[in-house]
Amino acid sequence: MSEKKIRIGFYALTSCYGCQLQFAMMDEILQLIPNVEIACWFMLERDSYEDEPVDIAFIEGSVSTEEEAELVKKIRENAKIVVAVGSCAVQGGVQSWEKDKPLEELWKTVYGDAKVKFQPKMAEPISNYIKVDYNIYGCPPEKRDFLYTLGTLLIGSWPEDIDYPVCLEC
Ligand code: SF4
Repeated sequence: MSEKKIRIGFYALTSCYGCQLQFAMMDEILQLIPNVEIACWFMLERDSYEDEPVDIAFIEGSVSTEEEAELVKKIRENAKIVVAVGSCAVQGGVQSWEKDKPLEELWKTVYGDAKVKFQPKMAEPISNYIKVDYNIYGCPPEKRDFLYTLGTLLIGSWPEDIDYPVCLEC
């Protein structure tokens, strides 16, 4: 009799993909868990994955374009549990720090006159747009925090909020 698989998605908004790299280091562990299926992973292929229904959605990156604001809502609609991963997703990341400057000025500083296909906006944490069930802090998060969160969710429990100091010795 086949056991129902728990479907996991890993999505990226505006980010450096560093959190996904941490996740990649867990991939071998995940392969040892027979009832886990990675249904989508933006780092490998980004192709309308947000429409896939998943049990747990891990989201990296801040909402920094109008398109991402829509994307993150779609991911939420299709996920039972949403986990914000890393400083960009949880707090907005470094790209959200210059809130006092006009977006146009920031944009020009970074991209000059480059033409882009998306509509930029001030970077914000994903919780400003959707309900987030759990946060994993860090930039990138510690692998053990990933494992703790995932492992706890997989056994049907709920992870405790991880107190995240500035440095591990603090
Ligand atoms: Fe990269 Fe840090 Fe943002 Fe993760 S939290 S995407 S590691 S900048």
